[in-house]
This record gives sequence, C-alpha cells and structure tokens, in this order.
Amino acid sequence: MPAVTVDSTLELARVPQVPAEGTRQRPVRSVTTAPTGFEGEGFPVHRAFAGVSLRDLDPFIHMDQMGEVEYAPGEPKGTPWHPHRGFETVTYMIDGEFEHSDSHGGGGKIMDGATQWMTAGSGILHIETPPEHLVMSGGLFHGIQLWVNLPRANKWNPPRYQAIEGAQATLLSSPDGGALVRVIAGEVAGHKGPGSTFTPISMIHATLRPGARLVLPWREDFNALVYSLSGRGSVGADNRPMEASQLAVFGAGDALTIEASTRPDSRTPDFDVLILGGQPIREPVAHYGPFVMNTKEELIQAFEDFQAGRMGVIPAGRTPHTQPGEQRPQ
Ligand code: MN
Repeated sequence: MPAVTVDSTLELARVPQVPAEGTRQRPVRSVTTAPTGFEGEGFPVHRAFAGVSLRDLDPFIHMDQMGEVEYAPGEPKGTPWHPHRGFETVTYMIDGEFEHSDSHGGGGKIMDGATQWMTAGSGILHIETPPEHLVMSGGLFHGIQLWVNLPRANKWNPPRYQAIEGAQATLLSSPDGGALVRVIAGEVAGHKGPGSTFTPISMIHATLRPGARLVLPWREDFNALVYSLSGRGSVGADNRPMEASQLAVFGAGDALTIEASTRPDSRTPDFDVLILGGQPIREPVAHYGPFVMNTKEELIQAFEDFQAGRMGVIPAGRTPHTQPGEQRPQ
C-alpha cells in the first residue's frame, strides 16, 4: 500500500498520549460488512456505508472503496461523464491512478496518495478514467470515493477543486511509533490537514503495524466512523474485531481506540483504516443518483437542469465514455 509512507515514524510529531483518567472512550455501536458492487463502467467497489442510517453518517452520505483490485491488461475501467449537485466528492487514491476532467475545463491526475476534493455545489459534469498506460499494463488499483454533504446554505456554491498531493498530508505517529497517521482534512490534537471543508470534518488514513494501538482524541460534537481498508484489528474500548472492508460506527465520547491484530494475515500484516468524523448537518436529505439536495422538488429540478445542459456540457473533442469499456446504465 504506497499512499504516503515514511521510513521511520520516529521523526514524526506524535499524537499526544490520551489519559485514561477522565477520558470517555467512544463505544462501538455497530460493525457492518460492505457489500461489493460495480461503479461507473464496471470497476469493483465495496459500498462502505450500506445498511447504516444517514443519521449516523451525517455529514457523510456515501462511500465506495474502489478495489483493491489487480487488473489484467485491458481491464481498468472508469466512469462515463456524469453530473453532481449539492455535495462534495472526495477521491483518495492509494494505489493506481485516475485521470479526471470536468465541464469547467479542469482536469488532472490523482495518484500516489493524492486526494481530489471536488465541491460539486450548484452543478458540474465530470469523468474519471484510468490513464491509457494503466489500461495497457493493468495493475493494482485501490482508492476511496467519499461523498460529503453540503448544508443548504452552500449547495448552490460555484464548483471548486482542491488538488491535495500525497506529500501535503500531515503525518503523525502514535506515542509508541507503531502507527502512521495521515491527516488529509480536519485535525488531530491541533495538527491540521490540508483539506478545506464547509462544515468541520476530519478525514484520516492510519496504518498500524501488528500489535500497534492508536488512541485519538475526538471532538465530542463529531460523529465517528472507522472503515478498515485492509488487514485485521479491533476497535473501541471493548476490542470489537474488524476485518477488511468493514465499517464501525461509534457512539458518544471524546476518544477513539484502534488496535492492529498481533496475529495478522501474512499477506497484509498492517491494519489500514480510514477514520472519519464531522459535525452533523441535521437537515433533510433528498438523495437520488448523483444529486444530494434537501427536498424532492430540488431533485426534480436537478434532473431538469442536467437534461437542459445547465450543469455544463461535455467539452468539445472529448469522448463521452472511457475506452475500452462497456457502458453501464447510470
Ligand atoms: Mn462522480
């Protein structure tokens, strides 16, 4: 798992030791297993939030773990051009590469632990495709796409991109040096990550060596979710076991505990987790397909605006779909 790694965690700033006394460890309320599905033109995903209520996820809406998959030559797939309105898409590439383009003329590569933070706001069209060389060679592909809701006041903001390179993530280690903590957005004990968000959230990718224990101070007004990307470990004060592609939802408190198994699978010795939290927006959510609004009327308007070309048009000279690949119904 390349993302961003370091030779030694010992030179990094440390997450402060969370005192046992006076700390309210968040209990684990549920652990669910992400079912598999296919996205875009047919790349395999795990639907990370399936079966969890929006109330527990708020301000997050949806998350796909893309892969992890080892593609044969000719197999890598992306998405066709499609619209979004009313929220932000966050694409974090751990292995492999995606190229993106949008109806505003923006575009670039997402690779090596980079994050693309796209505020769809009032509406945008975009496409994500594996680059030609990856289609030819095949190879490892692993990433995350997370949808972060926007409050009513920001749903009509103009679209915007933040390209966050892997090297910009704030790196920390656990007090014992056994965990590497990458802060992509939000903060851990005052160490801020680069991602800028409309409502306060934290997004962290942590890698724990076998037996390592990570205790993070966590804002009481945030929800708390831990998604296991690979490996094996446990979470919460009562050590609830977790395997790869599972989601833990935490209850109230001011600290989170994550522990890597002392007897991991030899193929994936480390326990890799995505840790998410944010201040709930607590507004009605009307979600259908690529749009996340507050009311059903706004969803209907979104479909009409998209069909009328008011969310932008595919730039001239661009193919509407990835090549090769078979289009799937949206
Ligand atoms: Mn999209």
